[in-house]
Amino acid sequence: MTPPITVRLLEVFRIGLGPSSSHTVGPMRAAAFFREGCLARGILPERVEVDLMGSLSATGHGHLTDLAVLAGLHGWAPETVDLDLFHALRETLAKDPRIPWGSGSVTIRPEAVRFLRYAEYRHEELPHPNTMRLRAMSGKDTLFEETWCSVGGGFVQRPEDPSIPPPPGAPLHPFHDGRTLVARAKELRGSLGDVILANEQGWETRPGEVADGIDHVWAAFQACISRGLERKGDLPGGLGVKRRAAELLARVESGRVERVYRHIARAQAYAFAINEENAAGGRVVTAPTNGAAGIVPAVLVEFAERTMLHPDVIRNAVATAGAIAMIVKTHASISGAEVGCQGEVGTATAMAAAALCQLMGGDVKQVEVAAEIAMEHNLGLTCDPIKGLVQAPCIERNAMGVAKAWSAAQLSLHSVVSNVVSLDRVIAVMKRTGEDMKREYKETSEGGLAVSLPEC
Ligand code: SF4
Repeated sequence: MTPPITVRLLEVFRIGLGPSSSHTVGPMRAAAFFREGCLARGILPERVEVDLMGSLSATGHGHLTDLAVLAGLHGWAPETVDLDLFHALRETLAKDPRIPWGSGSVTIRPEAVRFLRYAEYRHEELPHPNTMRLRAMSGKDTLFEETWCSVGGGFVQRPEDPSIPPPPGAPLHPFHDGRTLVARAKELRGSLGDVILANEQGWETRPGEVADGIDHVWAAFQACISRGLERKGDLPGGLGVKRRAAELLARVESGRVERVYRHIARAQAYAFAINEENAAGGRVVTAPTNGAAGIVPAVLVEFAERTMLHPDVIRNAVATAGAIAMIVKTHASISGAEVGCQGEVGTATAMAAAALCQLMGGDVKQVEVAAEIAMEHNLGLTCDPIKGLVQAPCIERNAMGVAKAWSAAQLSLHSVVSNVVSLDRVIAVMKRTGEDMKREYKETSEGGLAVSLPEC
C-alpha cells in the first residue's frame, strides 16, 4: 500500500499570477528557495546565473519564465508580488542590476537567465521536463549550485528530494486513491470534501485556519472573474487574441443565448475571464494549474450565484474538487510538460465535475463517477500552445472544460452508475498515455496547433 495522500488543499488552490503555474509560479518559488538557501549559508555572490531547460526553455519566453526567476531572486512570492513591479522588472534591472541580498547586494542581469537550446544539454537525462539550474557565482567560481524541477501546479522539488514535505502529523482519515477516499467518506457518512476538511482541520495551527484559507481562495476566484469581465482589447504576446469574456457574458445577459444553454454559457464567460487574466499575467489561483485555472471557479461561482449557497457548502465543494487533484497529482501528474493537457484541463474538468455533481445532490459514488467520466473524455489531450502563450488553445479549452464538467455531472447523476472504468483506473491510463505521448505534444510548442500557423 502506498503512503496516505498528504497533498494540502491550499497547495492545489494556490493564489499566484499568470500565465503558467509550472512556468511562472514554480520557477519564481524555486528561485526564491535558492536565494533563501544562499542566505542561510551566508553566501553573498557577485552574480547569479540561471539555465532553463526542457519545456521551461522551449516555451518559457511566452510564459514569462525569465521574469518569474528574476522576481524569485528578489525574494518575491507569487501570491503577494506587486504585479506592476513584476511586469516592469526587466526594464528596472536593465537600469540598475543590483538587488538587495542579505547585508549586501548582488548583480542580477536579465540576460543571466538563459533559455538553453536542446544542443546545449542532454534532454533525456533531465530529472523532469521542467528543469532549471541556478548558480551563485563569484568571478569564475561557483559558490553554490542547485537544480530545481517545476512539477506542475506551482509545486517545485529538488531531484534528490522528490517528496512533498509532509504535513505535521498523519492524516485523521488516511486515503491512498479514489477507492479509499470514497470508503473514508462513507465511513464518515459525508462527502469527499468532508474527508479532506477533517484532515486539514487536524493540521490547523489555529481554529478556522482552513475555512479562512478557502474563503480567501473563493474571494480570489470572484475577483479574478470580475477583473477579467471588465477588460477588453488584445492579450499580450503578439498573437492577436482578443479578450472575449465581457462580450460573451453580455450575449448571455441579453437573452441571445439559447435558454437551455444559459448556465453553461455564463460559466464559460467566467472561464474566459479567468483565463484571459491568466494570459495577461494577472492574479489567478491554480485549479490545479494556471493554464486550467478557469474551469473549477467558473462552474462553482456560477452555480453559487444562482443558488445562494451557504459558505460551508461552498467550502465543502472546493474541498471535493481539491480531492480529485490530490489523487491525480499523487498517481499521475498535473503537469502539461509531463503528460500533456489531459493532466491540466483533464484534471480541472474532473475536479469541477465532482464538485458540481456533489452540489446537485450526487452521492459519493456518483461524485467519483462524474470525475471519472470527465477525465476519461479528456484522455490523449495534447499540450500545444501556439507561440508558447497560454492563449490558444488554452482559453477556449477551459470553456470547453466547463461544458464537459456539466455533462459529466449530469451523466453521472441521471444514468445508472457504471463501474466498468474506475477513477483510479482512468488516472492510471492518463499517466500511461502521457508517457507514450511524444515530446512535441507536451508543452514544447513543437507539434500540433503550435506549428499549424501559416508562415507569413
Ligand atoms: S494546452 Fe493545456 S496544458 Fe498546455 S498550456 Fe494550454 S492549458 Fe496548459
